[in-house]
Amino acid sequence: MYRIRFHGRGGHGIKTGARILGSAFFAEGFEVQDAPRYGAERRGAPLDASVRASRGPIRERGALRAPDLVVVADETLIPVRSAGVAAGLAAHTWFLIRSAAPAAVWRERMARPERVLALAAAADERAELPFLGSIAAAAAARLVGAISWPALEAALVREVAGFGAGAQAESRARARTAWDALAPHAGAVGEGPELLTAGGDPGWIDLPLDLAERAAPDVRVPLTSLEVKTGLWRTQRPVIEPDRCHGCAWICSSLCPDGAIAIAGGRPVIDYDHCKGCGVCVAVCPHHAIHVEREELARAGAQP
Ligand code: SF4
Ligand code: SF4
Repeated sequence: MYRIRFHGRGGHGIKTGARILGSAFFAEGFEVQDAPRYGAERRGAPLDASVRASRGPIRERGALRAPDLVVVADETLIPVRSAGVAAGLAAHTWFLIRSAAPAAVWRERMARPERVLALAAAADERAELPFLGSIAAAAAARLVGAISWPALEAALVREVAGFGAGAQAESRARARTAWDALAPHAGAVGEGPELLTAGGDPGWIDLPLDLAERAAPDVRVPLTSLEVKTGLWRTQRPVIEPDRCHGCAWICSSLCPDGAIAIAGGRPVIDYDHCKGCGVCVAVCPHHAIHVEREELARAGAQP
């Protein structure tokens, strides 16, 4: 059985990536499970999504215990303990991280002399963010070697159809780039050992509770700080319209879950280094004084 886990943040398309990979496995004749696992369910919060795929029935349930492959789409998750990127790593586990740093650096940092690969982050890293799930799916499919490109592509097109033709084309292009980049390692990831007792019928399955800290906003746990520019994860930008704003700033400022709206001279000011673009302020403003712009368009225009 293949056991594969993706790590990313809300908004990266990680859950969709697991669905793409699961659908592609299914098209190749596998039995499949795929499931996302959330803590705080909002943009920017850590999440993981797992896929089990087997030629026979799958009787395992719950979180993966010994993944064959872990794909980390966002290297800033590595020091976040609640993200659990190292959970269940076994000697046979392959670890792929999307990073500008080469694999040798990550092997040293992780004290894993082998089975660590790096997938270079694209030059247009920001624009790449919503497509990380597609990239992760293509990378995993290439590494297991049991999925053809046509099967992966068909699954991808089907899963992202609802996002429009443009997103579909971009997803496919970025997935293909990852697929090609990992050609030297095609088929490196093998199926992991059987974890259930002889006979394959678990009889009873324990599903342990996750740590409570998993659900905590990771900006409040150790090893994160103001130096972590969480605004990088934003795909949409809230913009305050001064003419409409009544200065009732306790509303938007208090309800911003990231504390990214300060009050200056009685007026709200958004800290774009740390605003994740969740849209809460847009929803709660009683005067409709905050609108949303697509982040890449906002960046192409005037900077705040
Ligand atoms: S809630 Fe709306 S109107 Fe009130 S201060 Fe914030 S942006 Fe302005
Ligand atoms: S400023 Fe608005 S969009 Fe940004 S994090 Fe706060 S509530 Fe969310």
